[in-house]
Amino acid sequence: MPSPQLSVLIVEDEPAIAETLIYSLETEGYRVLHVGTGNEALALLKKNRIDFVVLDVGLPDITGFEVCREIRKTSDVPILFLTAREGEIDRVVGLEIGGDDYVVKPFSPRELTARVQAILRRGQRSERAAEVQTKEDEILTEGRLTLLFDRYEARLDGEILDLARYEFGMLNVFLRHPGRVYTRDQLMELVWDEPESASDRTVDAHIKTLRRKFHEIDESFDPVRTHRGIGYSWQQDLS
Ligand code: CA
Repeated sequence: MPSPQLSVLIVEDEPAIAETLIYSLETEGYRVLHVGTGNEALALLKKNRIDFVVLDVGLPDITGFEVCREIRKTSDVPILFLTAREGEIDRVVGLEIGGDDYVVKPFSPRELTARVQAILRRGQRSERAAEVQTKEDEILTEGRLTLLFDRYEARLDGEILDLARYEFGMLNVFLRHPGRVYTRDQLMELVWDEPESASDRTVDAHIKTLRRKFHEIDESFDPVRTHRGIGYSWQQDLS
């Protein structure tokens, strides 16, 4: 049983799906709130303490992606997407939408509840890990890059890189061992909270956005080398 009672907001316009989710999550001891539109969800989040959001992508007013972007401006609350199509997954994991996980419809309520629990647990774990890391080393500088762990902030030549969590994590791994080649599996193990839920394409997508963010500051800065069929490394001489 979760403790103390955690609040889960379900944003889903299909009543049948919402009802089974409400039942399943309440059975596990969560306090469950439910709305059927994106705007209702945003309004409710402003006024209530919510610990977890289950967010349908296809909503009648604004898309779940837009809702997520809006939430992420002010909040790190875990967000699990419900998607109707496999094709939407790339957007969820690859395009900086900021979701923590996704489930493709149709899914079993039990599976979804297990995901919610796993994400909430790992959130508690990573908070602890972050505390420890902050005490150990608050700043890492390597070449032109600086990582400030207390703020989860990365800078290139002093300019702030607006990185998502896993991009920051990969940068941390690379900078600690410049030149070392990491396979995608190794990066997933080292950086992702649930490596088994990530895929090679997830890593590739995050590398791609990392590169793009470097280029926004310096078009010629390209320190991540692709090793075909193997993985990626950080090329110190370029940094
Ligand atoms: Ca829907």
